[in-house]
Amino acid sequence: MARLVLKFGGTSVANIDRIRNAARHVKRELDAGHEVAVIVSAMAGVTNSLVDYCRQASNDYDSREYDAVVASGEQVTSGLMAIVLQDMGYKARSWQGWQIPLNTNDVHGAARIQAIDGARLIEAMSGGEVAVVAGFQGIAPGWRIATLGRGGSDTSAVAVAAAIKADRCDIYTDVDGVYTTDPRIVPKARRLEKVAFEEMLEMASLGAKVLQVRSVELAMQYKVRTFVRSSFDDPDKVGVDARGNPPGTLICDEDEIVEAEVVTGIAFSKDEAQISLRRVADKPGVAAAVFGSLAAENINVDMIIQITSPDGSTTDITFTVPAIDHDRAIKVLEQTRGEIGHFGIESSTDVVKVSVIGMGMRSHAGVAAEAFRALASKGINIRAITTSEIKISVLIDAAYTELAVRTLHSAYGLDKH
Ligand code: ADP
Ligand code: ASP
Ligand code: MG
Repeated sequence: MARLVLKFGGTSVANIDRIRNAARHVKRELDAGHEVAVIVSAMAGVTNSLVDYCRQASNDYDSREYDAVVASGEQVTSGLMAIVLQDMGYKARSWQGWQIPLNTNDVHGAARIQAIDGARLIEAMSGGEVAVVAGFQGIAPGWRIATLGRGGSDTSAVAVAAAIKADRCDIYTDVDGVYTTDPRIVPKARRLEKVAFEEMLEMASLGAKVLQVRSVELAMQYKVRTFVRSSFDDPDKVGVDARGNPPGTLICDEDEIVEAEVVTGIAFSKDEAQISLRRVADKPGVAAAVFGSLAAENINVDMIIQITSPDGSTTDITFTVPAIDHDRAIKVLEQTRGEIGHFGIESSTDVVKVSVIGMGMRSHAGVAAEAFRALASKGINIRAITTSEIKISVLIDAAYTELAVRTLHSAYGLDKH
């Protein structure tokens, strides 16, 4: 007997038929004698509608009430999943964040989990009952409902798996694993058998929304055996292999991967904005003033390039900020204009950051040069670049997103044959 966590994302519980299909995956595990906790997302599209209601209600809504509204999507699916399982003859009970309790901090809308008491869930499961947990939500100080940021049910699943010491956490979604890039953009993308935690972390934070970044951090920290797999597989036809692994992609330690490629995947993110400060006086303290003023407003700056004019008197500074912070950043920069003395501010949200990720980059030279060559061959202009040990990111015009992702995917030999 094993203890399993099964998480179903929005498309996997989009209607009652899909919930029934998801419940058949639960049934298979129960019939095999396992204890099961199920984590559910809201039905596809529901969270977006709830967010939209908040925006219609006010331009400046209270984040505690936003959480009260958006957490309700998961409450509905947890109840429906419990009803469907009961209807199939199994014992099942829904659990909201406060009932577990799953405690978070008070950063409403993007709360971090602080503690989960697994005792009640374990007690229910050992009594033969399926614990159906509403993902995405917890309880913040002051007995307020909190949510974990978009895509947060992945994090609920991994965190609950760690708290109840589950043997496995299966993230069921609408693709059958983690691919070399988003299979919706590149049909030639390949499914990966295994992905190292560090690579998955980079892929998720650079735009591959198949897993929420925080869920990967937790899986890495607590060594949760996490698989990404499809809920659309026939529940009666999928079993585990000789090593006990289900179909899908395992997120694991680097040393579990025998044949590592230089490049593992390509990710892209449209959530970026580019800001350029033109003809800024080239003197000490300018960068400190610019980036200090943004930091003071909690605006994260990512890529930065600085180009000094031929006579050395002025410089152009280009950088990126999250697209949602674009307007705030411009306001902050305008306020500090006097102090910095810069001449012009230009900005664009019509940009995309495309990233090449792979642990093999640590020991291989020329990986970045290959990306620049490939993009140049398609006439794609690079606006900014950043690199780290295991990734290279370039900022380009959003219109070239698909072309750039496909070009890089082929250039690194990732296409399926
Ligand atoms: P869920 O609702 O189940 O949480 P998501 O929409 O959050 O599902 O995540 C699954 C989606 O992630 C897929 O449909 C796919 O388009 C997208 N995706 C982006 N990058 C990748 C990748 N590298 N591998 C697999 N899926 C990816
Ligand atoms: N329902 C939430 C969202 O759409 C959480 C999740 O699905 O993971 O962001
Ligand atoms: Mg998701």
